[in-house]
Amino acid sequence: MHLCLIEDDLALAQALSDGLTAADYRVQQVTRGDAGLHMLQTGAFDLAIVDLGLPGLSGMDLVQRLRQSGSTLPVLMLTARDATQDRISGLDAGADDYLVKPFDFNELLARLRAIHRRVSGTVASVLQSGALRLDLETRQVMQADRKIDLSRREFALLQLLLENAGRVVTRDRLETALYGWLDPVASNALEVHVHHLRKKLGAETIRTMRGVGYLLVNPDASLP
Ligand code: CA
Repeated sequence: MHLCLIEDDLALAQALSDGLTAADYRVQQVTRGDAGLHMLQTGAFDLAIVDLGLPGLSGMDLVQRLRQSGSTLPVLMLTARDATQDRISGLDAGADDYLVKPFDFNELLARLRAIHRRVSGTVASVLQSGALRLDLETRQVMQADRKIDLSRREFALLQLLLENAGRVVTRDRLETALYGWLDPVASNALEVHVHHLRKKLGAETIRTMRGVGYLLVNPDASLP
């Protein structure tokens, strides 16, 4: 997924870029609104994150001109202001969604996934693999007809594994999903959450790929 990040706060832009890269986005950074508009109009992007207050051209004007030029590129707007009017104007200008700073990195990832699901037409709010079902709306997890209670972090972990069922998910991606990019991660924290998930879902459900990450396999196997 190729993402254009237009943000003039360099520290924030770098942190976002690092986190998004760890989450498997390909990120291009721009700090000015006018340069950002040019980049969006000439490059091939799947998504744009646009700060509201930018030098050169405001985020609002940028999105407006982008839409006037016929682009339907999904745009998530970032705003430092907490004024409802700004958000409404941003959406009116053509942004698909907005986030108010400061925001949780996981929230940003969730919004990006939601925007992507909307525009790609796959509005599925239920992730399913074998007997395992995870509902993103109700946050309910079922294994066959058994309801599974998960902590917030176990849920996030399982969500990412389910989204990539059958594929290895790297430690970096899992840790970013669990903690965002600001929290320091204890070296065994991921193992602890995986251990708890295995206890709830069955030991064979999550396979360790030594030195790489984890893999969700055959979720019907071995109910605990
Ligand atoms: Ca700014």
